[in-house]
Amino acid sequence: MIRILVSGQVCASLFVKSPIFLRCITVRQQHVGYDIAVVGGGIVGLATARELVLRHPNLTFIVLEKEKELALHQSGHNSGVIHSGIYYTPGSLKARLCVRGASLAYAYCDSRAIPYRRCGKLIVALDREEVPRLKALYERGQKNNVKQISLIDARSIREREPYCRGIMALDSPYTGIVDWRLVALSYGKDFQQAGGAIITGFEATHIAMAAESPAGSSEGLKYPVAVRSSTGEEVRCRFVLTCGGLYSDRLAEISGCRAEPRIIPFRGDYLVLKPEKSYLIRGNIYPVPDPRFPFLGVHFTPRMDGSVWLGPNAVLAFKREGYRICDFNSNDFVDALSFRGLHRLVMKNVTYGLGEMYRGMFISAQVKILQKYIPELGHNDVVRGPSGVRAQALDADGNLVDDFAFDGGVDELGRRVLHVRNAPSPAATSSLAIAEMIADELEARFTL
Ligand SMILES: Cc1cc2nc3c(=O)[nH]c(=O)nc-3n(C[C@H](O)[C@H](O)[C@H](O)COP(=O)(O)OP(=O)(O)OC[C@H]3O[C@@H](n4cnc5c(N)ncnc54)[C@H](O)[C@@H]3O)c2cc1C
Repeated sequence: MIRILVSGQVCASLFVKSPIFLRCITVRQQHVGYDIAVVGGGIVGLATARELVLRHPNLTFIVLEKEKELALHQSGHNSGVIHSGIYYTPGSLKARLCVRGASLAYAYCDSRAIPYRRCGKLIVALDREEVPRLKALYERGQKNNVKQISLIDARSIREREPYCRGIMALDSPYTGIVDWRLVALSYGKDFQQAGGAIITGFEATHIAMAAESPAGSSEGLKYPVAVRSSTGEEVRCRFVLTCGGLYSDRLAEISGCRAEPRIIPFRGDYLVLKPEKSYLIRGNIYPVPDPRFPFLGVHFTPRMDGSVWLGPNAVLAFKREGYRICDFNSNDFVDALSFRGLHRLVMKNVTYGLGEMYRGMFISAQVKILQKYIPELGHNDVVRGPSGVRAQALDADGNLVDDFAFDGGVDELGRRVLHVRNAPSPAATSSLAIAEMIADELEARFTL
């Protein structure tokens, strides 16, 4: 059931017909009052909105999403892996939230009958040089309390993945795959069923204290924050949470917060294995990561529909949320190129960056790397597949912001706003754990 709240009162109830497809109502009235407005209907915004409404059934919540449908961007364009938490620095939010998030995600999928497959993952060392890094990764995984990991030898690799070559591997049978968009939509459905409202097609362009608030109108005092859209609609609320993914920095800026960390979009293109070659891959196969580029390194990922994706690479995208090589937005392009942090990142990694671009353009170059793991893979066994765009947060010194990052403000508005500025991979896996953490933070900050 969807409830539309206008000025804090229930004025309409509608039934959702399909269990998965969310019917999102566009509310055109002005001065709609809510306790909390969540800007961004990706997996992080929806998981948090769900957590909040379940914890606080007496408060009113709304999710504002700029697209016509929910979870169309990072949450709908990713590898679909349920990560187990091996890679991340022990004690970091990433490590804690991923380990907890994975077990919450499995339990959630069980409770909602969302299909997933615990097909496991091998992180494969190809030569002796990679073995110390693989062992360090194993120790890291142990420190992070990742379930069921072990180091296996070449023979055991062949037993697990008959077509894979390597001299040692980290075996993580707990790793799985799922369609994260399906999970995000299910969070949205829970949220609506618990009384939350969702407006799609609402692009938040202004977040400000409402002009009449100081004058003391009752509406102004109760809901002093105004979130306005590009089409002039207005939603009034007491507090705002933004979970804007590729636009998280812009959403922070419009409420007077710092411009940094800046989001730089990196497009990742996948190749898809031809169906008749899917037998080559059983579970996820990953390289030993280069610590300098933790999000790089092409991998083999089986999908829930039976296909197998290879990749992605990572190249600078000329448009945030631009999924094709030709997608271009002058504002995004100038914004990225004029940022000192990007200049520094490029200077430090010219060779690597050019290599990624080259591999993006020429399938054969990408396949050459993949053949190191699966020698039977031929150039004709793959076709170009979909792409995703990663919201990479970057500081002014060109350092990748690796962990989750949150930001508020100091003035009257700042005390009423919390921005999720960086929700990097594996934020889909971690989404329910992130939601718990943000809900705790909002309760403390906003004395809910
Ligand atoms: C290529 C790739 C592969 C990945 N693989 C995995 C994986 O296998 N496993 C995993 O756990 N994680 C993975 N991730 C990471 C994961 O997908 C993201 O971390 C996660 O989806 C982030 O969710 P989000 O809600 O923060 O962002 P998004 O899903 O991008 O959602 C942000 C939402 O905010 C909306 N929005 C933005 N601006 C406004 C505005 N002004 N007004 C209203 N709405 C607005 C957008 O339209 C969007 O719907 C991957 C990411 C990428 C890019």
